[in-house]
Amino acid sequence: GDGQEEPRPVAPRRRSRQIMVGNVPVGGDAPVSVQSMTTTLTSDVNATLQQIAELTAAGCQIVRVAVPSQDDAEALPAIARKSSIPVIADIHFQPKYVFAAIDAGCAAVRVNPGNIKKFDDKVGEIAKAASAAGVPIRIGVNAGSLDKRLLAKHGRATPEALVESALWECSLFEEHGFRDIKISVKHNDPVVMIEAYRQLAAACDYPLHLGVTEAGPAFQGTIKSAVAFGALLSQGIGDTIRVSLSAPPVEEVKVGAQILESLGLRRRGLEIVSCPSCGRAQVDVYTLAEQVTAGLKDFPVPLRVAVMGCVVNGPGEAREADLGVASGNGKGQIFVKGQVIKTVPEAQIVETLIEEAMNIATEMGFE
Ligand code: SF4
Repeated sequence: GDGQEEPRPVAPRRRSRQIMVGNVPVGGDAPVSVQSMTTTLTSDVNATLQQIAELTAAGCQIVRVAVPSQDDAEALPAIARKSSIPVIADIHFQPKYVFAAIDAGCAAVRVNPGNIKKFDDKVGEIAKAASAAGVPIRIGVNAGSLDKRLLAKHGRATPEALVESALWECSLFEEHGFRDIKISVKHNDPVVMIEAYRQLAAACDYPLHLGVTEAGPAFQGTIKSAVAFGALLSQGIGDTIRVSLSAPPVEEVKVGAQILESLGLRRRGLEIVSCPSCGRAQVDVYTLAEQVTAGLKDFPVPLRVAVMGCVVNGPGEAREADLGVASGNGKGQIFVKGQVIKTVPEAQIVETLIEEAMNIATEMGFE
């Protein structure tokens, strides 16, 4: 064969309705996607876009940004416009930021039912604005911020309590005819979390976002997430995943991708990733990315190739990519594993990348 046989997935997928998070389908027969969350201040547009560039180059497919303040809400239009992967706004208390996020062009909004009381009278308006914009909502239940009513009823954050909270929240949106929803029910204990998702999977057909909260430092969090996601994905449950680590988010993406590859849920193929570009960009990143994609179209080896908008941060941000280019001043710095190996005129970028891709393929033992 050509080394590119389809992996055998671990189990048939649960049937879920499909939603679109920007251009990334979630649920149905869509591949399980990997997401992460930025750790920068969202109000710092350039720092946030730079971190998104790093995450994108590591294979992140959807990114979430926290929106705790007005400054953060005001940064959303620039971030949503420039990110090359869909941006989800994470909103806890303030309905006005939900509207701001939808207006800003965010691909989805995450709300937390434990904090929803303030949303109550706003759910109808949110449903209306979200469906007009084609923006799905993630109902994100967290053990740590469970609705007090449910905490009192169940005594603690049991799987039943998490599921009841999520379905109750869904019902508020369903009353307004809104079903463009995905759900998460996160807990720091994989045993509780696994049971909660199993119950949820049986109770509804919404796509599910898997996550273990406060999973801990890299070593512990990696194991907890791998075990919990493995248990669920091996039963076909889970449509998108986020590994939470007390570590740089790029580590979360690497772990998430490895989990999917281990379960035969992700095929390693040629992947072209491009930075969202920020104030530093000296080149039209989108056009360059298209040219590189066209140039490497039939390349048969699994490689991640990064196309970055500037020579200042590009190679560093793409250090998880196998190969890439950072452009500026009519030149392209070609880098391998984040190290600049040569600089070529812009017209030679594509041919040089193909050449270097061949070299890497040979090193990897491909003929
Ligand atoms: Fe990063 Fe440079 Fe792209 Fe800005 S232009 S996101 S600094 S690679």
